[in-house]
Amino acid sequence: MPFHIPAATINQIKTALDKAKHILVITHIAPDGDALGSLTAVGLALDQLKKKHTLVCDDGTLERFNYLALTNSIKDIIPTDPIDLVISVDCADASRMGKAYDHLPSPKPFTINIDHHITNTNFGNINLVISEAKSTTEILADLFPHLQVNLSHALATSLLTGLVTDTLCFRIPGVTASTLGTASRLIEAGANLFDVTTQGLLLRPLSTLKLWQIGLNNMREENGFVWTTISYADRDAIGLAEGKATGLVNALSDTYQAYIGAVLWEQADGTIIVSFRCHPPYTVSELAVNLGGGGHDLAAGCTIDGPLNKAEQLVIDLAKANIRKQQGIFYQHGHNHG
Ligand code: AMP
Ligand code: MN
Ligand code: MN
Repeated sequence: MPFHIPAATINQIKTALDKAKHILVITHIAPDGDALGSLTAVGLALDQLKKKHTLVCDDGTLERFNYLALTNSIKDIIPTDPIDLVISVDCADASRMGKAYDHLPSPKPFTINIDHHITNTNFGNINLVISEAKSTTEILADLFPHLQVNLSHALATSLLTGLVTDTLCFRIPGVTASTLGTASRLIEAGANLFDVTTQGLLLRPLSTLKLWQIGLNNMREENGFVWTTISYADRDAIGLAEGKATGLVNALSDTYQAYIGAVLWEQADGTIIVSFRCHPPYTVSELAVNLGGGGHDLAAGCTIDGPLNKAEQLVIDLAKANIRKQQGIFYQHGHNHG
């Protein structure tokens, strides 16, 4: 069963697309597979609809997703000619679009917000936000037929990439027969599940393991909170000053002992990016929001001020308090979650 998209929303989107002369499609900073899958999918759809567009991500693209169409046209700066429509994909709030949105002249252009984060702030003029969707691309897969966009091979590959990467290949709670039905439709349209899984999820550079090595060395556990820190100097020393290694936070949280797992990454500018993960019945979205971030129930994050040791103490205190609070709620409801 596809997600229900209200007819009014579809009509508003059609009208906005019809009127637009130059569309800026923006995804979130520090992009992931869903961000780049959604961005390129919307680009391919707009190509079919013959609408002029520019695809932007503040942090550019990621090499591992080079197999996606249009990745070579992703810009990290906004074009200078006028923009009359913004389509934001996979962004929980406007700040996730970074400079790409911030630097647009005010008043900001009409904005369509397409996303699946439970913390989405409905910042758009049109908000197509479905938090039950497992990826933003899953929403797009349901939206495109309403816009008479055909599932080309390349489009199906972009959409499947978002779905496979955000669900860790269909392994997260909430994956339903309908999620697999969408995936099946995309595979029928020509997307290759093995290639998408291997390129999008599995293969990693050796340097990633070196980062994990540092992270696992610094790992600590207190009262069900398992965390580690990676300093800027640590990353610089192995030539990996930019970016972060996904997967480490999962390694920490995928242990019997962890109620919540976290990795704190010190950035060049001294700020700290924090990734949180957990397993049900715990959630991390509230903890991330309390720290000025957001995300999903089981995967969330935030960016906080340094220095690293101060940020670390703040995160430890709040995470442990949050675990205690959640345990109090489970206890009240008579659950037994050791
Ligand atoms: P990450 O740990 O970077 O993989 O992020 C986990 C999830 O949290 C992703 O869905 C992100 O989009 C979301 N997220 C991370 N940082 C933030 C933030 N500062 N604000 C809102 N959502 C965030
Ligand atoms: Mn994302
Ligand atoms: Mn997503």
